[in-house]
Amino acid sequence: MSGPATPADVVLGGAAGPVSRSGRVEITDSREAEVGAFRVRRALPRRDRRSIGAWCFIDHMGPAVVTEDHGLDIGPHPHIGLQTVTWLLDGEALHRDSLGSEQVIRPGQLNLMTAGHGVAHSEEATGRYRGRLHGVQLWVAQPDATRCGPPAFEHHGGLPRVELSAATATVLVGELDGARSPAWRDTDQVGVDLDLRPGTTVLPLRRDHEHGLVVFAGAVTLDGARVGPGHLAYLGTGRDEGALIATGPARALLVGGVPLGVPLLMWWNFVARTREEIVDAYLAWHNDDGRFGTVDSPLPRITVGAPPWRTR
Ligand code: MN
Repeated sequence: MSGPATPADVVLGGAAGPVSRSGRVEITDSREAEVGAFRVRRALPRRDRRSIGAWCFIDHMGPAVVTEDHGLDIGPHPHIGLQTVTWLLDGEALHRDSLGSEQVIRPGQLNLMTAGHGVAHSEEATGRYRGRLHGVQLWVAQPDATRCGPPAFEHHGGLPRVELSAATATVLVGELDGARSPAWRDTDQVGVDLDLRPGTTVLPLRRDHEHGLVVFAGAVTLDGARVGPGHLAYLGTGRDEGALIATGPARALLVGGVPLGVPLLMWWNFVARTREEIVDAYLAWHNDDGRFGTVDSPLPRITVGAPPWRTR
C-alpha cells in the first residue's frame, strides 16, 4: 500500500499548498495510481495540496479481491524520513520489514512503521486469506528531531473508540474528544476512522489544526460540500467543529494536524529536505550497502531509476 510518490503527484519541494481560512471546504480529486497489483486513489500529495499537518501521503486502496498467494505483492523497498500508517477496512495483509518484524494486519488494527534514517519493508499476501481487501496507507513526515533517527515498528491490536452522535470514531493516531491513540507520534497530528450512520455528526476539531477528509465508502456532506470516494475534502485552520451528514452508511477518514510550515522534498519512497539526502538514500538502496537492512521476503526487491538531478 505504500508509495511511491511520482512526479505526477508533485513533488519536488515548494509550498505546502493553498491555505483555506475562509471556512469553505475545498474538494480535490484523487489521482488513480497503481501500487503493486492494486489500483489506488491517491488523495495526497497533489499539486495543489502537498500535506495536511504532517500527513503527506494518503493512498486509498481497493476494494479488490485477493488470494492466498496474491495480494498487495509489494516487494522490499526502502523509506526514509516518514512513518507509514496502515489501516484496513476489510481483509488481511502481511507486513515484513528489515527490523525483523513479520505482522499480519486485520481490520481494527494499526501498523505503524517509522523509517527515520532508513528501513525497508514488503507488503504481501498472507498465505491463507482469500477475499476482499480494502484499506488505506498514509505517510507522516517526520520532523528534524527524529527523521534521521532509528527505525521502529509498532502493531496495535486495538484502538480507542468514541461514540459521536451518528458515528463511531476510532482514533488511529493522536487524540479526539479525550480518546488518545497509543500510536507513537513525533508531531501533533490526528487520524480518525469514522463509521457513519445516517444522520448528522458534529466532529470536534482543533482550531490550530488543518483537516482533511477522505471517504472510503458511501458519501457524506461536509459543511455543505458533497464528498465521495476519490475526493479529498480540505478544511483550513480556525475551526472548532465540522458538520458531517450521511444519508446512508458511510466510512471515512479524518486527518488533521498543525500545518508543517516547512516544504518537504518527496521523491519515490523518500521524504527529505534536500536533494543530497535523496541521492544518498537512492545510492544506498541501489548499491545495497546495508543502510536499509534486509527484508526476509519471497518477493523481489523493488528498484528505481536515479533521481533526475543526480550528478554523482
Ligand atoms: Mn512502503
